[in-house]
Amino acid sequence: MSERARVTRRTLIGGATAAAAVGAAAAAPSAGASQRHGGGGWGGPTPPRGNEYVLRDGFVLSMDPAIGDLPRGDVHVRNGQIVAVGERLRAHGAVSIDARDKIVMPGLVDTHWHLWNASMRAFMVNGVADRAYFNVTNILGPHFTPIDTYRSTRLGLLEGVASGITTVHDWSHNVRGPEYADASLRGLLDAGVRGRFSYGWAQRGPLDVPMDVDGIRRTKDRWFSRASTTRGLLHLGIASRNVVPGQSPRGSITIELARQDWTSARELGLPITLHASPRGLVTMLEQERLLGPDLLLVHPTLTTEAENAIVVERGTGWSISSVGEAARGPEEQIRYAELVAAGAKLGLSIDASAGDGANLFTAMRMLHTMTTNRLGAVPGITYRRVLELATVEGANTLGLGDVVGSLTPGKRADVITINRLDPNMAPPGDPATQIVGLGQPRNVDTVMVDGKILLWRGLHVGVDVERVVRDAGQSATEISSRAGWPT
Ligand SMILES: [Zn+2]
Repeated sequence: MSERARVTRRTLIGGATAAAAVGAAAAAPSAGASQRHGGGGWGGPTPPRGNEYVLRDGFVLSMDPAIGDLPRGDVHVRNGQIVAVGERLRAHGAVSIDARDKIVMPGLVDTHWHLWNASMRAFMVNGVADRAYFNVTNILGPHFTPIDTYRSTRLGLLEGVASGITTVHDWSHNVRGPEYADASLRGLLDAGVRGRFSYGWAQRGPLDVPMDVDGIRRTKDRWFSRASTTRGLLHLGIASRNVVPGQSPRGSITIELARQDWTSARELGLPITLHASPRGLVTMLEQERLLGPDLLLVHPTLTTEAENAIVVERGTGWSISSVGEAARGPEEQIRYAELVAAGAKLGLSIDASAGDGANLFTAMRMLHTMTTNRLGAVPGITYRRVLELATVEGANTLGLGDVVGSLTPGKRADVITINRLDPNMAPPGDPATQIVGLGQPRNVDTVMVDGKILLWRGLHVGVDVERVVRDAGQSATEISSRAGWPT
């Protein structure tokens, strides 16, 4: 019997305590207070402990062009940093992790994910308009409390970490007050992931007033005045409301108000993100002189060749959510190959795990398949290229290109391993083909963020999985009860 099957998933956590703390509006940031690792006493997996590891004899897919692939290589990690990548490394005193028959690679990078509503999948019914993602989140969003946001975030990240995701962009468009930002940030910290939290707005909130600059400033001061508060893992941004009327059921603001919001964000030194699928939006933003390298647009499905050139010129990035975008109909097609040809800054994203799951393996495969379906085989658009999008390019798109995204000495140790001998992967051949063409989250063996092991032998470390799932379910029930919906 495998360890995966033997071990019960009841391990302890500090999630309950953290959730209770978040329930009170003024959850104080105390870095890592509730994160416990090595759940040996609670039935969880027991990973090796230490501050220094060497992953030995794996197929190292470094994603660093200078290092390339090492069919039998080692990765040496010390105090959360990659110190060496090579063959037969000397790493005296480091805890050795056997990576034979595994791919060793950088953790996957998400660039746009609405973690606050992961638990809302409880209400979604395919084929019923009333129960589609937008309607459900629009109706129930106003009934969230901070603890609901925390619980949903934890649920989403449990799925994400088990899928090999180590960096996320929490695109938080139901921040009903700064205590909701506290809840999200606490959830991100307790999960142990790296990433950006983008402070958005409140679902069904007023669209004729500026964004909550005071709340954003408070969040910045409280959580980001010292890097140690978030263990250096997180940074802050803002999520802009839509700017094109009729763009989405979430409504829109005027371009003048957007300019005011974005100016405030830029004065605070915060990056900006915007859902940007409407036709002509890039042209409009260019005319308004709002584009820049601090802007990350989402959903490049209707951009023109001229617009692709403009975003490259302005250094603006794009996030591609291929699973959700695939369902947009024949007219809206992801301009992936065109944006690659233009040299755009690109990342891959989960978007709405409530309806689409938190699975970047599927997202990679779907993006490749859709591109081929639309354009035929495009030179350079390969599984390997798509894998770059989900790692090194995604990190670059979030401004973390010097920090993570590849196994490069000096970068932080966000490393995952993938079992090459699982039945859906074996016999092992080209690793990029294994990952993009065949891979599933269940093939992820180990996940390390900043040198800390979060997943070991496919099991969460120091997390009471059942409890996180149960809490998210309870939240969903309470929210619907408060809303009196669905009836
Ligand atoms: Zn989105």
